[in-house]
Amino acid sequence: MKARATAGGTGRSRLLVATRSAHKLRELRELLGPLSTQLVSLDDAGIPGDALEDGETFESNAAKKARFFAASSGLPTLADDSGLEVDALGGGPGVRTRRYAGENATDEENNVKLLRELAGLPPERRTARYRCVLALALPEAAGPRGGIPVRFSHGTLEGRIAVAPRGSGGFGYDPIFEPAVERPGDRTLGEWTAEAKNRVSHRGRAARRMHAILAELGF
Ligand code: IMP
Repeated sequence: MKARATAGGTGRSRLLVATRSAHKLRELRELLGPLSTQLVSLDDAGIPGDALEDGETFESNAAKKARFFAASSGLPTLADDSGLEVDALGGGPGVRTRRYAGENATDEENNVKLLRELAGLPPERRTARYRCVLALALPEAAGPRGGIPVRFSHGTLEGRIAVAPRGSGGFGYDPIFEPAVERPGDRTLGEWTAEAKNRVSHRGRAARRMHAILAELGF
């Protein structure tokens, strides 16, 4: 793939965030600022299409998304792949977190299914973690065969699955996710402020590490 943007030129003035999730975009904007580059979403930049998320790991899906949109836009591209690992489900739903209750499942349907699966389990058997992998694809650094290099950052947040939803903040599984610092039955992430979530969240940690990589690369 031929690079359409060059380092130091337009390639550094805009960074494409490869998501159609308004929630992820808002969190990443809050978490990654300030940078000297402008963060644009797929919709802002008018980029159509969707990458196939058929990888078996968060890393492979994040890299697929970042490379796919970097190739189609010519812009440096940041992708987030994240999800929930529940110990009682052997680490599931993992890469299938968004589609846990079906291809177009709503957050509420996913939460209901997970609560049902864990019904009757005591707090110590409800342990879980959020994982986030950020992948940065740099099309201007593509090799002679067109392979687009990718840099990664990671973050996790340990916690447990509550017995019932509480709170309306955040998104996804936040109303049923109790961070490990809370006692069982205390606040879920859906009851935390956005600032408190960002300080400790999987995405917050991965974003701070990615911020350092971006700064090093001149963004
Ligand atoms: P994907 O990265 O688009 O494949 O989807 C990740 C899914 O994981 C989201 O749709 C949410 O269901 C869940 N998820 C990821 N991060 C969070 C979070 O910060 N809070 C709640 N749910 C999350």
